Amino acid sequence: RVFNFNPGPATLPLPVLEEAQKDLLNYKNTGMSVMEMSHRSKEVSELIEEAEALMKELLEIPQDYRVLFLQGGASSQFYMVPMNFLREGSEANYIITGSFAEKAYKEAVKIGPTHIAASTKEENFTRIVKPEEIKLSSHPAYVHITSNNTIYGTQWHAFPDFGDIPLVADMSSDILSRRFDVSKFALIYAGAQKNLGPAGVTVVIIRPDMLERVPDHLPTMLKYDTHAEKNSLYNTPPVFAIYMVTLVLRWVKNSGGLAAIEKQNEEKAKVLYDVLDNSGGFYRGHAQKDSRSLMNVTFRLPNEELEKLFLSEAADQGIVGVKGHRSVGGMRASIYNAMTLEGCRALADFMKEFQRRHG
Ligand code: PLP
Repeated sequence: RVFNFNPGPATLPLPVLEEAQKDLLNYKNTGMSVMEMSHRSKEVSELIEEAEALMKELLEIPQDYRVLFLQGGASSQFYMVPMNFLREGSEANYIITGSFAEKAYKEAVKIGPTHIAASTKEENFTRIVKPEEIKLSSHPAYVHITSNNTIYGTQWHAFPDFGDIPLVADMSSDILSRRFDVSKFALIYAGAQKNLGPAGVTVVIIRPDMLERVPDHLPTMLKYDTHAEKNSLYNTPPVFAIYMVTLVLRWVKNSGGLAAIEKQNEEKAKVLYDVLDNSGGFYRGHAQKDSRSLMNVTFRLPNEELEKLFLSEAADQGIVGVKGHRSVGGMRASIYNAMTLEGCRALADFMKEFQRRHG
């Protein structure tokens, strides 16, 4: 297998893929694959219960919160959040630190009154906002943040606290990568395809009082309480994707839990950031140092010709997926949980060698 630095769908842990391969034809001696099984079967209900329980255990989620497994990607949460929580007489507040944050905001604009509480767009999203830059509206329905900005390679390292105002976070690209206090959040959502599993399922972590705020007039599928009441089994859920998420959660647990994963992620990111910092300016990071992401390392080379050469030489060495997003250019190494330290070292060695030859 290659070292896959793609930003998502991203590389999955090898033991997880091997286990799925083993289970594929005959899940738990049922004589069929888990994806061929009724979603009303005991096996599937147990799978969903296990996934919720493991999420709660690993992230230390308060017991009364619910963990839901939905479809439609994180992008569907961009409109579900305002549809469920934006009431008349209040404003949806957004802190805009990247393109996905902006997309979330633009969906909310279609639903009701909105307010940009802070933004770093003018600086091409090279950093997270400072607490003193955040200006909330007069009656905030909630404040929405994006914990890790996948495209720009920036990440919140300390979360803001607005007291009783519900804090909502898109954690698509860093959920399960580090420890944090879930109880500070009213709702967290994440598309699975970076740290949690394959695309096709979106995880929503929701505080119980938020479920009570859901208005009755919404279409059934768009109401969070529908999915909470039915344990994510209101309609046919993406069983295979949830099964894969469960395997990933077991893998995280067996790897020593979130503390161990966090330590490993810090080590991995340091290997790459050290190369940037010791390159004498050959590699230029996009993110300001105090906003650097542990998940997406973004950098540029001296010119586009060298960048093209970098990509093709890297691919020759089995290092793939490092092309940056077009809005930043250059490179982006996505080093989610399943990327190994070995993979990061291989990329770091390649970067040093490339500089020696072309610098
Ligand atoms: N939010 C963030 C932070 C992302 O990185 C992405 C995808 O890369 C999305 C939202 C969109 O997710 P989806 O493709 O699941 O709709």
